[in-house]
Amino acid sequence: MGKLFLLILFGVAVYLMLKRGQRSTARPPSTPPTAETMIQCAHCRIHVPLSESMTDGNLRYCCEEHRRLGRR
Ligand SMILES: [Zn+2]
Repeated sequence: MGKLFLLILFGVAVYLMLKRGQRSTARPPSTPPTAETMIQCAHCRIHVPLSESMTDGNLRYCCEEHRRLGRR
């Protein structure tokens, strides 16, 4: 009887451990970093986020100066 009690106790302990382990591994969905479209400057070939780029026709530049200098 004592052995059976220990067995049940062990089973409960394992169950609780597994439950706790599941809880710790179940992380909240991590928000991925906002992946912004990267464009290449037509002048210096550097990659810049689309929102920081300058547009001239169908060409894109990293800054106003490069837009002025134009395509290289
Ligand atoms: Zn540039």
